[in-house]
Amino acid sequence: MITEEQKKELRRHLAGFLTEEVPLALKTSYRVGGAAAFYLQPESLVELELVFRTLAELELEFLILGAGCNVLVVDEGVRSRVVISLDKGFGRLEIVGTDSWSVMLRAESGVRISELVRLSADKGCSGFEKLAGIPGTVGGALAMNAGAYGGTIYDSLAALQIMEKGELEWWRATALKPVYRDGGLRSEQVVVAAYFLLERRSSSGIISAIAEIKSLRQQRLPSGAHAGSVFKNPDGAFAGCLLDEAGCKGMRCGGACVSKEHANIIVADKGTQSDDVLTLMEKMRTLVRDRHGINLESEIRLFS
Ligand SMILES: Cc1cc2nc3c(=O)[nH]c(=O)nc-3n(C[C@H](O)[C@H](O)[C@H](O)COP(=O)(O)OP(=O)(O)OC[C@H]3O[C@@H](n4cnc5c(N)ncnc54)[C@H](O)[C@@H]3O)c2cc1C
Repeated sequence: MITEEQKKELRRHLAGFLTEEVPLALKTSYRVGGAAAFYLQPESLVELELVFRTLAELELEFLILGAGCNVLVVDEGVRSRVVISLDKGFGRLEIVGTDSWSVMLRAESGVRISELVRLSADKGCSGFEKLAGIPGTVGGALAMNAGAYGGTIYDSLAALQIMEKGELEWWRATALKPVYRDGGLRSEQVVVAAYFLLERRSSSGIISAIAEIKSLRQQRLPSGAHAGSVFKNPDGAFAGCLLDEAGCKGMRCGGACVSKEHANIIVADKGTQSDDVLTLMEKMRTLVRDRHGINLESEIRLFS
């Protein structure tokens, strides 16, 4: 819990961009869960530095929220950590260099993946086609190593600007060690901006590749409130197939239901509790363990 003294100091130092009791359900694709006791939206690097210096001084932990497309917020909300969003002041996207073959792009953390994909189609630069249709921000995608159809956001990454304990650092892509659905960042490392190196190609080719990926996704993904795949694929298998074979499709707990189209997606109906989703996840995990002897690992990040 955040002590009364820490609360007083937070309000004193960060008043300009601090909000209290912010309902996080409105900021996530699951649309469930409680409020953030303290929610910070710094709008510049100077404010971001101030935030991290203050949190370090007060010995407070934090969670970064992107577009909330891969998180589940617990019903009690986030009471003992501060939630930080870079949505407001970190949305710049610009081409910073070009030659006959390539384009260098700078995207700040809050830029949406859809904006990257759109720009690459408009300007004829290839590298993001497989990300078409993945919701979320650049920061969230890098933290998650988001991807689909054999491609990920790291494929065209050249460098990252990261803030750690109030210090800005540059990381070459080659120095990072992303693994499947995990960018490998430490919890105290915050993505501020990323540089991407893209290949020049004809816009028409890129547009048709994007359309193809989007149509494949439309056939696979259910509608309703969800956060994409719940579990990571274990080595050599697809979590969706294991869950289907274990009989999970259509299983329900309160307002949470395993999609009938996709056994690795939980859809949250209106009024669902976060606990419903967690209970259903545990049942799914148990069924797969009993049938296949495999322990599924959560892809969804829990905010508590
Ligand atoms: C309909 C749907 C389809 C999806 N399909 C796919 C898919 O095909 N492939 C796929 O990989 N994912 C998919 N997802 C999941 C989700 O879109 C991705 O994981 C996405 O990258 C999450 O981005 P976000 O901005 O919403 O991050 P959030 O969900 O807000 O956060 C995810 C994690 O990233 C961290 N984070 C966020 N921003 C930063 C930052 N600036 N610095 C450091 N850490 C940060 C958070 O703390 C959290 O741990 C899907 C989700 C939905 C709802």
